[in-house]
Amino acid sequence: MTRTVFVNGEYLPEDEAKVSIFDRAFLMADGVYEVTSVLGGKLIDFAGHAKRLERSLNELDIKKPAVFDDLLEIHRELVRVNGIEDGLVYLQITRGAPGDRDFVFPDPETTEPTVVLFTQNKPGLADSPAAKTGMKIISIEDVRWGRRDIKTVQLLYPSMGKMMAKKAGADDAWMVQDGHVTEGTSNNAYIIKGNTIITRALSNDILHGITRAAVLRFAREAQMQVEERNFTIDEAKEADEAFITSASAFVMPVIEIDGVNLGDGTPGARTARLREIYLEESRKAAV
Ligand code: PLP
Repeated sequence: MTRTVFVNGEYLPEDEAKVSIFDRAFLMADGVYEVTSVLGGKLIDFAGHAKRLERSLNELDIKKPAVFDDLLEIHRELVRVNGIEDGLVYLQITRGAPGDRDFVFPDPETTEPTVVLFTQNKPGLADSPAAKTGMKIISIEDVRWGRRDIKTVQLLYPSMGKMMAKKAGADDAWMVQDGHVTEGTSNNAYIIKGNTIITRALSNDILHGITRAAVLRFAREAQMQVEERNFTIDEAKEADEAFITSASAFVMPVIEIDGVNLGDGTPGARTARLREIYLEESRKAAV
């Protein structure tokens, strides 16, 4: 079935949707994005994603597109016309297509941002087998730029990291800077010791995950301790449990880091409980 996508104000069949070769995101990765999950036909934490999107645009001085206030409606319409029960909505906003290549930003008075949205159908998104089996992680050096708090489309290194993991027979990579874990290639990283969840504090070094914010809130409500601080791969290997969070994976257990089993090498009970609480509460609040 052909998807209906949204490009610059129009709903179109995917094979009729076009973006200019001069688009700043195509030439310079000059764009930002969001991924919002859909469960039971409803959007999970749309408000959080919209708020972070606005911040990303502000930080890069990209003009808010005219349709910004209609984004919830557009998400809902795409979910409806594409019949998405479980899946994702991908949204990208770029600095636009000025009609030539130039390092200097185009005049926002004459170049409108490009807005693209499309859905991805993922039946059973919340029942992924990896939630039961757990993920294997390798560590790699974090060589990304210094503004990882902005959700830009510069995803080459994270994509390479995922391939390094695949090649090593693992599922994903955790990136390490100055000896400390920053985050996963497309997710935030956590370890659990006793009743305490440990994850790197927010800064320009990591993406401020929307799922991270919700999971830490639910963890505190469930009387777990939360420590937002740096940790090393060696500390992670010694942890009782580990997990990752993202909008598309929710809470996913990690069972192995650089070939070392965590605990008994099976997903931890606290991680499983956090996943359960997150899915339950997020479904309740979905719009
Ligand atoms: N960190 C990175 C580098 C990411 O790419 C993502 C999601 O794509 C996350 C963390 C998790 O963020 P969220 O929970 O908002 O999906």
